[in-house]
Amino acid sequence: MSDSDCDVVSSERLILVVDDDLAMRLLMREALEQAGLRVIEAENGEQAVEVFSREQPDLILMDVQMPVLDGFSACLRIRAGSGGDEVTIVMVTGLEDVASIQRAYEVGATDFITKPVNWPILNHRVRYLLRAADAFQSLRHNEQKLSQAQLVARLVHWEWNLADDSWVWSPSFRQVFGVGWAPVDSSYAGFVAMLAGGERHRVEAALARAIVQRSTCSIDHDLVLDDDNVRNVHTQARVIVDHAGNPVSMQGIVQDISERKKAEERIYFLAFYDALTGLPNRQLFMEHAKRALFDADKHGHRVALLYLDLDQFKRINDTWGHGAGDELLRSVSERLQESLRGSDMVAQVAHAGGDEVFSLSRLGGDEFTILLSNLHTASVVAQVADRVLEHLSTEPVRVSGQDIYIRASIGVAIYPDDGKEVETLLKNADTAMYQAKRSGRDTFRCYTNQMNSQFAKRLSLETRLKQAVERDQLVLHYQPKLDIRDNCQLVGFEALVRWEQPGFGLIPPDEFIPIAEDSGLIIPIGEWVLDTACAQIREWRARGRQAGHVGVNLSFQQFNQQGLVGQILHALQRHSVDPEALELELTESTVMHDVDSNTVILRNLKEVGISLSIDDFGTGYSSLSYLKQLPLDALKIDRSFVKDITTDSNDAAIIRAIIALGKTLDLAIVAEGVETPEQLEYLRQHGCDFAQGYLFSKPVPANEAEKLMEVAFFSCAAGKASGVG
Ligand code: C2E
Ligand code: MG
Ligand code: MG
Repeated sequence: MSDSDCDVVSSERLILVVDDDLAMRLLMREALEQAGLRVIEAENGEQAVEVFSREQPDLILMDVQMPVLDGFSACLRIRAGSGGDEVTIVMVTGLEDVASIQRAYEVGATDFITKPVNWPILNHRVRYLLRAADAFQSLRHNEQKLSQAQLVARLVHWEWNLADDSWVWSPSFRQVFGVGWAPVDSSYAGFVAMLAGGERHRVEAALARAIVQRSTCSIDHDLVLDDDNVRNVHTQARVIVDHAGNPVSMQGIVQDISERKKAEERIYFLAFYDALTGLPNRQLFMEHAKRALFDADKHGHRVALLYLDLDQFKRINDTWGHGAGDELLRSVSERLQESLRGSDMVAQVAHAGGDEVFSLSRLGGDEFTILLSNLHTASVVAQVADRVLEHLSTEPVRVSGQDIYIRASIGVAIYPDDGKEVETLLKNADTAMYQAKRSGRDTFRCYTNQMNSQFAKRLSLETRLKQAVERDQLVLHYQPKLDIRDNCQLVGFEALVRWEQPGFGLIPPDEFIPIAEDSGLIIPIGEWVLDTACAQIREWRARGRQAGHVGVNLSFQQFNQQGLVGQILHALQRHSVDPEALELELTESTVMHDVDSNTVILRNLKEVGISLSIDDFGTGYSSLSYLKQLPLDALKIDRSFVKDITTDSNDAAIIRAIIALGKTLDLAIVAEGVETPEQLEYLRQHGCDFAQGYLFSKPVPANEAEKLMEVAFFSCAAGKASGVG
């Protein structure tokens, strides 16, 4: 031992010498102080207990036989008192018999020395014991730190003795897993019993493999501590072998990763599920779809992709706010799940072999997809689509205190027929969905190849139309309207928009108005038409021409636009045009859509003096009672009825009925598309008031329309479309 070691151990070390023999105490003091130790004394056990608790010495040399309280009893009491479990107690016994040595250890002595004391080695012995105590204490300290660290890391270690199958957990086990003081089974079987049934085999196999290969194992699994205490853990273990290389035990750590797992699950959820409805999102949909296509290839099945889009969702969102929109989406998601869960539905699509047949996702907004895998017959798709649409719409959902009927349109694309990749299928299902919307909504359409070219055409048309609006390539043509009651006198014009595209000629509105409506371009187009028509009226008037009423067509979207009345008044004012010169044409579906609020708008327009007519009458659906309450001026009979008026008795009957209806409601009747003198004659005979049609004139540019105003009467009886000046 070096001097410095000696110093470290000796300095400030306090030794309590307990002996009733004064000579003994002095000798001990002498020997210890020479070695640099400090010494205090006690004469008996009683005093020793008292001095110990006051001075807290590092080591006690304790005589056994003493008056008042003997050494064994004193030792017991010191150990039981505060600080007593760490002090080193050396019994100094004259009785070197086994019984008293045994007794000394029983009462908690650290060691013993016998009398007569071998003085030269006493201080070596004492210093050795002090060092041992230090080492012991620092070991204890480290262990404490380790167990603290393990607690923080939620780590437990274990050792499995392969010879007797005992399994010992570290003390941190109880704290980390919160199992209180319930007994823990210290056997391998006890560990296995904590594994979830479905995982036992996997974990046991991993450990067994490590033993056979004398290697390590690393595995995630659950620990079932009791019914409502199940932890996700990560186990890492290694095999300990003896000198001959035979496995003797396994040591491992188990880390509680429940929190991390939960966080991971949350992240996974956020990444792959839609937070609003809890349905898989686009990301997960793509995964599911790819998987379904892969499986379909393997088994020679088909997969159907149903692309569902709510009808009028944007309006609900705009009218009642996003909260209501969210509520509605949640209800839709529930309805969809219900309709797919229905047992008869599953039966219809039997033979799925236990696989998930339907997989529902929300792609975003009001778009949902249903993936139908393991498809054998095409008829199933129609059944599913019908069922879904029906289940969505049979009962209203309550959103923000309102009953709302949900309607949707579904487009279907089939793998591999309509596309080899998910992206293509999605695109084609979307195209089909768009077709479903075009054909009246609340229905489904399957993708057909022609749709693609239609789709492409539509896209390019949409782009060009947008440019056309910006580049001022739209023009208005005017078709005269005549009073046919007497002679054919000009009473007004209908303004009809044309798209004049360099290289493409004149594109008719039937081709681009629907696109304009879908893309929202109808709003700027409508504004332009209104403004241009007003400017034209003013120009004609400035030149002393009498144009009569000029009719302008308003689309559904335009009519439902905020501030429509103000916008129209503004256009009139800007060009100083009297409201009486303007007539607005609205279709039945536009007006009948939300009659109550439309009535208000129509009254406002009517009050300022604008005329109102229902266009294409007979093709939509009109409620008679509503028709009565609307402030209308005229009904325009759709030209499809006029066309066969002289040959088809049904059409003739419809026309007569419309005319009769108009008379009852005190509305003027305008026939559209009059092409022959016979049609004109029939209409006139049955009391139709006004007419438009090629018989008189096609829609013509403004300058030609102006010439028509110079004509007093249109000659028509002879079938001549020329004017008579
Ligand atoms: P509409 O309002 O019913 O217009 C009457 C359509 O019948 C016009 O077609 C007109 O050219 C056509 N027509 C007139 N007389 C005859 C005839 O004797 N025989 C035949 N076969 N057709 C005749 P056009 O100009 O192609 O317009 C089609 C539709 O496009 C219009 O139907 C209207 O709904 C819409 N439209 C036209 N211009 C506008 C506009 O500025 N705004 C809006 N929102 N829609 C418009
Ligand atoms: Mg019209
Ligand atoms: Mg019409």
